[in-house]
Amino acid sequence: MAYHKFDVVIVGAGGAGLMAAMQLPNASIAVISKVYPTRSHTGAAQGGVAAALGNQEEDHWQWHMYDTVKGGDYLVDQDAAEVLAQEAIDAVYDLEHWGLPFNRTADGKIDQRRFGGHTRNFGEGPVRRSCYAADRTGHMILQTMYQTAIKNQVRFYNEFFLTDLLISEGRCNGVVAYSIRDGEVHTFQAKAVIFATGGYGRAWSITSNALACTGDGMAVAYRRGVPLEDMEFYQFHPTGIYRVGVLLSEAARGEGAYLLNSEGERFMQRYTPTLAELAPRDIVSRCIVTEIREGRGIDGSDYVYLDVRHLGEAKIREKLPDITDFARTYLRIEPITEPVPIQPTAHYAMGGIPTDLEGQVIIDENRTPLVGFYAAGEVACVSVHGANRLGTNSLVDLIVFGRRAGKHIAKQLAAGELDHAPLPADAEAPTRELIARLRSNTGETEGPIREEMRVVMMDLCGVMRTAAGLKDCAAKIAELQDRYQNVRVTDPSETFNTELMEVLELGNLLDCAETTVAGALAREESRGGHFREDFPDRDDVHFLTHTLAYRGAEGGVQELRYKPVVITEFQPKERKY
Ligand SMILES: Cc1cc2nc3c(=O)[nH]c(=O)nc-3n(C[C@H](O)[C@H](O)[C@H](O)COP(=O)(O)OP(=O)(O)OC[C@H]3O[C@@H](n4cnc5c(N)ncnc54)[C@H](O)[C@@H]3O)c2cc1C
Repeated sequence: MAYHKFDVVIVGAGGAGLMAAMQLPNASIAVISKVYPTRSHTGAAQGGVAAALGNQEEDHWQWHMYDTVKGGDYLVDQDAAEVLAQEAIDAVYDLEHWGLPFNRTADGKIDQRRFGGHTRNFGEGPVRRSCYAADRTGHMILQTMYQTAIKNQVRFYNEFFLTDLLISEGRCNGVVAYSIRDGEVHTFQAKAVIFATGGYGRAWSITSNALACTGDGMAVAYRRGVPLEDMEFYQFHPTGIYRVGVLLSEAARGEGAYLLNSEGERFMQRYTPTLAELAPRDIVSRCIVTEIREGRGIDGSDYVYLDVRHLGEAKIREKLPDITDFARTYLRIEPITEPVPIQPTAHYAMGGIPTDLEGQVIIDENRTPLVGFYAAGEVACVSVHGANRLGTNSLVDLIVFGRRAGKHIAKQLAAGELDHAPLPADAEAPTRELIARLRSNTGETEGPIREEMRVVMMDLCGVMRTAAGLKDCAAKIAELQDRYQNVRVTDPSETFNTELMEVLELGNLLDCAETTVAGALAREESRGGHFREDFPDRDDVHFLTHTLAYRGAEGGVQELRYKPVVITEFQPKERKY
């Protein structure tokens, strides 16, 4: 048995995990990551990180808070949005001080650009709020923080796969992980555990997410009795490369790109006259789908164009180098002279593991904390994004709430509030049994189950949803869960057994998918990223509330409970742009 003891174990080495690690200089910390840290999905973030620095024009954190609440269709917890908007400013300066090479204004300040839904003076027009490093902001964040973590001598366990969360005597006291390199199972005992394992976009067939975004942290917590919050709110980004899903950042539209239908019309001007292409993502995605359904997709097909030609070659090369390269690589299209075919792509989980403002996981509608367990970043739901996240508000969520989780643990440790507690008896048994079962199963291999899940989620639990479609989707996911019980790992190897890893990931994706569909079916209204064709209006009387999905002992969603939304400054209003 491989056993390790630390003060704090952080699972995930993306922006959220690394930011948390940075706050604990006096603690012994392990960071566990299934991929090499700099390959975490944070590195793929392109457009920027929002903070009301006001470097380009007047801006205030109160405006940022308002935009976040309105963008999230009033499902946002407003105390959390206030913290986000206020602390964004300091958190971005932390990054600057660690050496992040932001683009600069002429007088040397951090440059800022426009992004969807970010406005001046409570909705009057677009504002420059997104701090950026060309169109590779996440890459720069990750490299900067990883270097700083190495300098601070953080201990990394790379290519370790989280399989279980250890809870005993009502508190969390460690995790179990599987070493991909040699197949050994390891126990990590800790006074506090932070999950920073990211999202689950791989549950859909067209997605912007990396292969590693399989909802592992959410599923592991869910299987240990922690509810998942607001899973029905999943964001489709409007501009994924047609058929491939790879993202073309909203930075393109921030810099002035157009969306065009088959008639060459800038159709967004018709739907949202004030912000046009810079309306929030849920709205733009729905407008694209509507254009396609009404026959105005390009050549009658299921895509429209993103057009940057009028920005000119110099600006494209300076501000949008990576994403224009993606168009060349994946579509053999030259964006300087040709428009680029795009379609909505599964992008971001607004929901996840419920936490309070300090990143502590809470397990019910009374906000009862699970002592010693924290979550931050895309895996968590605090909830600052409500029903729809604004562009560049995720990177800021990582650094603000990653920082708060780390700082809270540091404070608790200093006060002697957190200590090592006894591990559950035979902590590794469930992981060993699971792996042994997968190796001895005789059923089908995982490929078909994964593909069927991704297609059914795309078709029936995507941008537009109906009761009939969601019921079919739920039945299909249940069938796939049954088939999964007997799924077989054909590769007997202990060394870098990527098949075994993919099978474990598939199990996690299925659990995330089942909670997404259950929440979507129960929510008979349309709000933010969740659009029900059979209930097209928002219903604040019945559904101004967060969903909590609990798993039954035998699997499947056993119960949905509801938790009130925190409303402080801004009463829910109709969302017009
Ligand atoms: C293409 C793309 C572009 C984006 N652009 C922007 C943008 O411009 N601005 C913005 O604000 N947001 C953007 N986002 C969203 C944002 O990048 C993500 O939400 C955010 O980076 C997630 O960070 P994280 O730290 O929560 O997790 P991630 O960066 O996804 O990291 C997850 C970590 O958890 C580890 N992990 C996962 N499962 C396990 C396991 N079982 N065992 C061990 N370790 C595990 C992984 O190894 C990894 O280190 C973008 C997202 C995508 C996909």
